[in-house]
Amino acid sequence: MSIRLDAVSKSFGDHKVLNDVSLSIEDGTFFVVLGPSGCGKSTLLRTIAGLEPIDAGEVLLDGRKVAGERFHVPPEQRQVGVVFQSYALWPHLSVAGNVAFPLEAAGKGRSVVSARVDDCLETVALSEFGQRKPAELSGGQRQRVALARCLAQGAGTVLMDEPLANLDPHLRGVMEEELSSFHRASGGTTLFITHDQREAMALADKVAVMWDGKILQVDDPDTLYRRPMSKEVAGFIGRST
Ligand code: ADP
Ligand code: MG
Repeated sequence: MSIRLDAVSKSFGDHKVLNDVSLSIEDGTFFVVLGPSGCGKSTLLRTIAGLEPIDAGEVLLDGRKVAGERFHVPPEQRQVGVVFQSYALWPHLSVAGNVAFPLEAAGKGRSVVSARVDDCLETVALSEFGQRKPAELSGGQRQRVALARCLAQGAGTVLMDEPLANLDPHLRGVMEEELSSFHRASGGTTLFITHDQREAMALADKVAVMWDGKILQVDDPDTLYRRPMSKEVAGFIGRST
C-alpha cells in the first residue's frame, strides 16, 4: 500500500518530536528512514502503525485517512505489520503460537490461521520450528519469527524499527539479504527504520534523512550520497562510511 504523511506534528510535553513531517511512499517501495538516535524515527513509525496518536496533520494509507487531529484508526484496522528491535515474542507461546497470536486476536477462524501460519513460517524457512519456544532459537531465528508474525498480519505492508540492531555483523548481512528478497517476493511496501547509514544505503530504494523531528531530504541512495542538500545530510551520510 502507499503511505502518506501530510504535515504531521507530534509533541510529548513541550518537546516537538515530529515537526511538520510530510512523506510520500509509493506502493512497492523499500523505503528507509535514516537518522541519529532520538530524532523521532520510532515515533514516526508508531504514528503510521497506529500506536501513537498525532496532534496535527494527516496520515493516509492507500489514500484512506487513518489519523488526523482528534482522529485515530486503531492499529488492528490498519493492515500493517510491525517488527521491533526487541522482537517482542511471547516466551510462553510456541513459534507457531506467536505467529498465530495477532490473527487469533483479530478473530480469524482456526483453519485460516493455521494455513497462514504455515505459509509465513515457510517463507522465513522455519517450518520445522513451529513447536519450539523462542528461548530455544538463535537470535537470527527469533528475528525471523518476528518477521513471520509481521508478514502474517501485514497484508504485504511491513514497518520495521531497527530490526537488525541487536544482531552480530555476520547475521546482519544474512538478514539484510533475506529482507531484500522478502520485499521483492511480496511486492509490498517496506518501511525500514535505522540509524545505520551503511544499512540504509544497502537496502533502500529511497532514503529519507531525518534530523531533530524533521525530514531533511528524500532521495535514492546514490543521489543522496553524491548530492546531499545540506551539511547535516552530508555529515550524516559521510560520517559512518
Ligand atoms: P528515535 O527512534 O529516532 O531514536 P524516538 O522517536 O524514539 O527517536 O524519540 C524521539 C524523542 O521523543 C526522544 O527525545 C524521546 O525521548 C522522546 N519520546 C519518545 N517517546 C516518548 C514518550 N512516550 N514520552 C515522552 N517522550 C518520548
Ligand atoms: Mg527508535
